[in-house]
Amino acid sequence: MKRIEIVKGDIAQLQVEAIVNAANRSLLGGGGVDGAIHRAAGPELLAECRSLGGCDTGDAKLTKGYALPARYVIHTVGPVWHGGDQHEEQLLASCYRQSLKLAVAHDVRSIAFPAISCGVYHFPVELACEIAVREVCVALEQSSVLERVVFACFDDEVYQALQRSLARRRTAQH
Ligand code: ADP
Repeated sequence: MKRIEIVKGDIAQLQVEAIVNAANRSLLGGGGVDGAIHRAAGPELLAECRSLGGCDTGDAKLTKGYALPARYVIHTVGPVWHGGDQHEEQLLASCYRQSLKLAVAHDVRSIAFPAISCGVYHFPVELACEIAVREVCVALEQSSVLERVVFACFDDEVYQALQRSLARRRTAQH
C-alpha cells in the first residue's frame, strides 16, 4: 500500500532510495540539512555537485548518494521567503514536483523530504507543510512507481504542522 510517513530525525540516516536535499543555488554545500547530507555522504558528493553548474530556485538535480544509505540525492533549491509576493508558494510547490518527477524518472519507490525552505529560508511552516503534503499526495496518486514518502523533521513545529496538514487532507477526502 502507498504511504506517507512523518518521522523525527536526521534525513541522512534514512533507509530510502532517494533523499531530497534543501540546497542552495550553488549546490556547493551549506549549513542545515545540506551540511548534514554532505557530511554523511562524504566528499564525492561535493565533487559530483561541482559538475552540475548549480540549480535554479524551484528546480532539482540528481546525484548519487555515495556513503549514504540512500542511492540518490535529489538536490532542490527552495525559495527564500520575502513576504509571499515573489512567487514563493509556486516555487516551493515546484521544488516538490520537480524532485518527485526526477525520482519517478529514476524508478525510485521510496523517497524522503526535509522541510524545504523552513530553516534559514524562513518560509512560514504551516503554509510550507500544506504545500508539501498536497504535492506529495498528488504524486502518489499519479505515479505507479512511487510507494513510500517520508517527511523527515528536525523540529517539533514542522512535525506537528505536517501532521495537521495530512489530517486535513485525509478529512477532506472522506
Ligand atoms: P532551507 O535553507 O531550505 O531553509 P535548512 O537546511 O535551513 O534549509 O532547513 C530546512 C529544514 O530542515 C529545517 O526545518 C531544519 O530544521 C531541517 N533540518 C536540518 N538538518 C536536518 C537533518 N539532518 N535532517 C532533516 N531535517 C533537517
